[in-house]
Amino acid sequence: MGRPRATRLRRALLDWYAENKRDLPWRRTHDPYAVWLSEVMLQQTRVDTVVPYYARFLRAFPTVHALAEATEGDVLALWSGLGYYRRARLLHEGARHVARVCGGAFPADAAGLRTIPGIGPYTAGAVASIAFGKPAPLVDGNVARVLARLFAIEDDVRGAAGLARVWALAGELVDEGAPGEWNQALMELGAMVCTPRAPRCSACPAHTSCDARAKGLQGSLPILRAKARPKAEARVAVVATRGDLVLLARRKSSLRFGGMWEPPGAEGTDPGVLGDLAGVSLARLREIGSVVHVLSHRRLEVMVYAAHLARAPRPAIDAAEYDLRALVRPSELGAHGLSTLARKILARANVA
Ligand code: SF4
Repeated sequence: MGRPRATRLRRALLDWYAENKRDLPWRRTHDPYAVWLSEVMLQQTRVDTVVPYYARFLRAFPTVHALAEATEGDVLALWSGLGYYRRARLLHEGARHVARVCGGAFPADAAGLRTIPGIGPYTAGAVASIAFGKPAPLVDGNVARVLARLFAIEDDVRGAAGLARVWALAGELVDEGAPGEWNQALMELGAMVCTPRAPRCSACPAHTSCDARAKGLQGSLPILRAKARPKAEARVAVVATRGDLVLLARRKSSLRFGGMWEPPGAEGTDPGVLGDLAGVSLARLREIGSVVHVLSHRRLEVMVYAAHLARAPRPAIDAAEYDLRALVRPSELGAHGLSTLARKILARANVA
């Protein structure tokens, strides 16, 4: 890429960003912990959804030390409903690493940040550039799309070769003087103007530097290979109540939704397994309908049953998916980390 083109592009985008950036809470800080938290929350999640979670999380855990000292249950409870719960568990593990191994101070460059569990190349670039002003590049979905269009890259940008080209370009382009602003400007352009469908080229500050626009390819780039369709998985679950208490079980930490609580369930279509999971024989299971929940790789189709517990089960459970049970008041569900799927199942039974 020629130097004049890069200079023109940087100036146009940085000026546009200064004028047009959205006022978001994490853009008012250079605290590496807060920047890191926002970047983790924003992965796969819309900005509007993240804003209240970010504020609540920082109120509860204002420093990396506070997060390191928290229990996993408290962290998951605050993440409840945000999805991709593995992110929360890795964030927690990363905070413990910073507190215990790094003496509470974040490494100030991308290579050092990569040594923290859960921090990959994107997050390392974001924290290094935004919090520490280091000229570290980053590539997320928005940046890959913008760069694929600006430079008319016809490789699949999810494939190894296309991704390598995009990272190399991001590294060449990152602004030495304002790397954090530059990286955020690229992402903001992707979110607000150079959107996946129907990019608004006439409103784009980079339109005179854009190869895709010059070639009329803005509607067909980037090239993305088709994602596999989520695989269907049938499940059964029971909402078992005793008086005004509802039975929840905690998922084993190594599994999907690890550490989260939910009405106990199992893979398959046979409700006969639900008695063991509830810890008592369930003489009269009532089928009350199904719920569907789609994850990135799975479409979960859960048949929900209701039952009354004649007595309280023991908390200990050694089942394929669970390691603990508890009877909980509906008003106390918020103190438990519940996935959106668990909430849907409870709502199906009119609990919560
Ligand atoms: S001119 Fe159009 S395609 Fe090119 S970067 Fe701007 S919005 Fe995207």
